[in-house]
Amino acid sequence: MDLYEHQARELFAAHGIVVPRAEVTDSPDRAREIARGLGGRVVVKAQVKTGGRGKAGGVRLAADPVAAERAAREILGMDIKGHTVATVMLAEPVDVEREFYLSYVLDRSAGRFLAIASAEGGTEIEEVAAERPEAVVRVPVDPAEGVTSAVAARVAAAAGLPAQSVDVLVRLWEVLVHEDALLVEVNPLVRTTRGRIVALDGKVTLDDNARFRHPRPDGERAASADPLEARAAAKGLHYVRLDGEVGVIGNGAGLVMSTLDAVAGCGARPADFLDIGGGASARVMADALSVVLSDPAVKSVLINVFGGITACDAVADGIVRALEEVRLTTPLVVRLDGNNAARGRAVLAARAHPLVEQATTMDGAARRAARLATAASTAG
Ligand code: GDP
Ligand code: MN
Repeated sequence: MDLYEHQARELFAAHGIVVPRAEVTDSPDRAREIARGLGGRVVVKAQVKTGGRGKAGGVRLAADPVAAERAAREILGMDIKGHTVATVMLAEPVDVEREFYLSYVLDRSAGRFLAIASAEGGTEIEEVAAERPEAVVRVPVDPAEGVTSAVAARVAAAAGLPAQSVDVLVRLWEVLVHEDALLVEVNPLVRTTRGRIVALDGKVTLDDNARFRHPRPDGERAASADPLEARAAAKGLHYVRLDGEVGVIGNGAGLVMSTLDAVAGCGARPADFLDIGGGASARVMADALSVVLSDPAVKSVLINVFGGITACDAVADGIVRALEEVRLTTPLVVRLDGNNAARGRAVLAARAHPLVEQATTMDGAARRAARLATAASTAG
């Protein structure tokens, strides 16, 4: 997951990297107050998860609080490479003498990290890298050794970075390791006219597989912008919202993807991908169903489970439990096969809910769910 600049800079600051004072808001009025608090002159910066904000007009210097309010008003709502600006950060401006580039990135094929550094940082770094690759230094980092002061000194010297940046190189590596990041980037890292080294911009990509190691209040390590995806993630479900009308729940990513194909093959569109995983309990199934049924676009739900470690009767119990917790108005088509399928089918048959029907094959289930969704869409 990519972080916003203001989140990245908090991680930098927590590890002792100097960043300018700054505050985030979604309101132009509040921007004026923040600017006043920061001394009047501020840089107003769009918070979007993409680079090139400066070139797109999303980074502006404002001379006073009124100008900051105006800049915030103009930047909020702006589209930058397909990202709508919902918040701006106001930062104390820094007098820049020189801009550098610094990053660590995972090099999967080499099984290492790469330190990338250049004495020609700033908004033109891509052009520099393309036209004069020798101006951008790449040094492999052995993850077991890490970036010691000696390694950092080597990188700084090779790239022509000032001696004070050695400390930043070491601290940035600590950010990567402690936060379980796949990428940390500072562009530009600047030397101010007073000779201080400051991180003016930051990009961090966290390793989602390590999220469990970072228990933080919800939203901070911001799961997803989609409220249903966030709710599903909070329940430990693998759920991706799509834009169709047939809700899809299955066990195992491969089976769920095949089910999406089967739905599409029947001329309908899947509304989501939801994998309840292996060995799912009744609770997990009930949670899954409640998430999918909360999507108003869903006109029918297809539950496709091939029991292996997962027992079909537990899945059926979960469906029955969900029926007690929500008032079902959307038809469900359930296909249970494999481990304990007969018991699972019997549980559903005994419950005999008028909106729940069973299918014996995946294709048959997909056809039926697609037809029910189409019928519901045409009906209203
Ligand atoms: P990006 O375009 O998305 O990478 O956004 P940045 O945060 O890197 O800002 C773009 C450029 O604006 C930087 O490379 C700097 O040249 C400039 N900039 C940003 N903040 C300041 C500041 O406080 N002082 C000065 N002088 N320039 C700044
Ligand atoms: Mn930048």
